[in-house]
Amino acid sequence: IPIGGADMPVVVALLNSYSGLAAAATGFVLNNTALIVSGALVGASGLILTNIMCEAMNRSLFNVLIGGFGGDSGGGPSGATSTEGLTVNSTTSDDVAILLSYANKVIFVPGYGMAVAQAQHAVRELAEELAKKDVEVKFAVHPVAGRMPGHMNVLLAEANVPYDQLFEMDEINGEFETTDVAVVIGANDVVNPAARHDKSSPIYGMPILNVDHAATSIVLKRSMRPGYAGIDNELFYNSNNQMLFGDAKDSISAVTNE
Ligand code: NDP
Repeated sequence: IPIGGADMPVVVALLNSYSGLAAAATGFVLNNTALIVSGALVGASGLILTNIMCEAMNRSLFNVLIGGFGGDSGGGPSGATSTEGLTVNSTTSDDVAILLSYANKVIFVPGYGMAVAQAQHAVRELAEELAKKDVEVKFAVHPVAGRMPGHMNVLLAEANVPYDQLFEMDEINGEFETTDVAVVIGANDVVNPAARHDKSSPIYGMPILNVDHAATSIVLKRSMRPGYAGIDNELFYNSNNQMLFGDAKDSISAVTNE
């Protein structure tokens, strides 16, 4: 069965849960209570995790299994929302540094690109610099940001970002309206407003982080290439959005130096 590259973790979670169910069944045959209990725990947690990931992408398990979504981003922007003729605002690291240092509240939104660039340590350094300037800093983590369940939490924890700065999507989504700057680090699909209103979009109905509600959003990525879903992102064309093009680690380090 052709399974989209990044859908593999969902399938692995499902297969994992089968191993638990098989262990529980063996427990019944062998009359072994420990095997039944541990197998049931593995089976149930695998199924719950599979379900959480499918819900976070607003896709059925069947759709994930038949691989009807995503692919490696290679070509130019595409997608149902027409962005032809629209322009993006590009910015520089020194402008971003000024904007951040005068902000009261900044939310970082990490995505797959932060993992690719291995930018998590640089991001923590920038967050620390901002905290020294009394800027309130938070991290908004989408359940399917990255390519694995908990991908962003693991990377940020590894970089010693304090747990109390990490917020789940539902906890933090209402806060973007009172945020001066939302900094999107290599995330794309999980901040695409088309998911809210564009019924023809393949990500329609997927819950997203409301980055477009912040006073200003800054998106760090290398090009205008799409993310995993292979569609253009209308956030990039908003008048209050600025693109900081380049590798996420280089861009973040440049902002911190400024
Ligand atoms: P996306 O794949 O939507 O976007 C990642 C972005 O990162 C790209 O647009 C890319 O742009 C940018 N990028 C790549 N490398 C770098 C770099 N070195 N520096 C800066 N930017 C970079 O990621 P999201 O995290 O927003 O979304 C995750 C997607 O994966 C969703 O569609 C989700 O459904 C899917 N998925 C996630 C699973 C999970 O468990 N987390 C499981 C299955 C699917 P550019 O090339 O221009 O730099």
